[in-house]
Amino acid sequence: MFYLDNSATTPLEPQVIERMSRFRRESFANAGSVHRGGQRTRVELESGREEIAVVLGAEPKEVIFTSGGTEANNYALKGYAFRVRSERGEWPTIITDRTEHHAILHPTEFLASLGVPVIYVDVDSSGRVAPDVLRSLLAGISSGIPPLVSIMHANNETGTINPIREIAEVVHEAGGLLHTDAVQSFGKIECAVSALYADMMTFSAHKIHGPKGIGALYVNKEVELEALMHGGAQERNRRGGTEPVELVVGFAEAVRIAAEEREEAMRRVGELTRELRERLSAIEGIVFVTPEENALPTILNVTFSDAAHLDGEALIVGMDLQGIAVSNGSACTSGSMQPSHVLLAMGYPSAQAKAAVRFSLSRFTTQEEIVRGAEALKNVVERMRRFS
Ligand code: PLP
Repeated sequence: MFYLDNSATTPLEPQVIERMSRFRRESFANAGSVHRGGQRTRVELESGREEIAVVLGAEPKEVIFTSGGTEANNYALKGYAFRVRSERGEWPTIITDRTEHHAILHPTEFLASLGVPVIYVDVDSSGRVAPDVLRSLLAGISSGIPPLVSIMHANNETGTINPIREIAEVVHEAGGLLHTDAVQSFGKIECAVSALYADMMTFSAHKIHGPKGIGALYVNKEVELEALMHGGAQERNRRGGTEPVELVVGFAEAVRIAAEEREEAMRRVGELTRELRERLSAIEGIVFVTPEENALPTILNVTFSDAAHLDGEALIVGMDLQGIAVSNGSACTSGSMQPSHVLLAMGYPSAQAKAAVRFSLSRFTTQEEIVRGAEALKNVVERMRRFS
């Protein structure tokens, strides 16, 4: 099996497995226990937090561990909305866009159902939020409560990168706060606090060869959030529950390696993605959804000009039968394929949004996988056209 689905998840890095196994062999005590065993575990927990904070250029207390990107996104949105509501008796406005991951869209819909005012900013045809468009939206908010803007750093289906630094300036000028979902960009492009200027950022370990079940929310120390999980004083009273230190040390190791290898690895991955683009250009009617500029080196999303005659699900299954693991952004609801909400928001017709194929690479991807992946898509599409 050739694995080109690294935006869904990545294989564990061997050094991550090694560090987690070492921890498991040596420590099991609760990080909250006063005895020596507990103290040893606490040291591991706090060193892991510090290692991640250093890479982000943040203070350790600004890094809150969560169960992953989904929880971190939920916490940023709900933690802020509930805090403002309890302090000021009113909900803040939330501004986001329709290309976000469901881990932003669904909590936003939930908050809207409670009465939170929500505004969606349009994206352009490459999937980017333009800072000027956001500026005019922010100017129309009359409430004196700082709005929360949540715009993802890089899109998980298309790889499109938003100009987060400029967006942060616009949001701050308007007195708002910026959260960015950096799950896909972390470890691939610069995500330091000083580069992005976001007030909150979401990360997940399993997208960077770390373990599943752990992520983090960076929260600027000036920002107060309502606790999401009540029941213990862990994570500075913000997330009760015994800390999964084994996962923390694995996450920290994955972050350390990603930071060390990022530039060289992403240069090589960028070359592979360019080669993939070139090879795929030979397929008649191919449409590249991922823009050539302002996109992650790890993602290449394509669709087809005759998409109405191609079945999106059959494309992915056909690739799987050829031994290639890829994905699309379409969700299967009640037995029928739904078009990708991301491509729809970018203005693609429904048929093209259903027939998208996403190749996603990692630093472990080989040139052979690229050659095989491109060949397989050509075969699958040609066969489908012959029989349609
Ligand atoms: N945000 C983005 C952009 C993602 O791609 C994902 C995972 O696919 C998530 C959030 C959810 O992260 P997790 O799987 O760690 O909950």
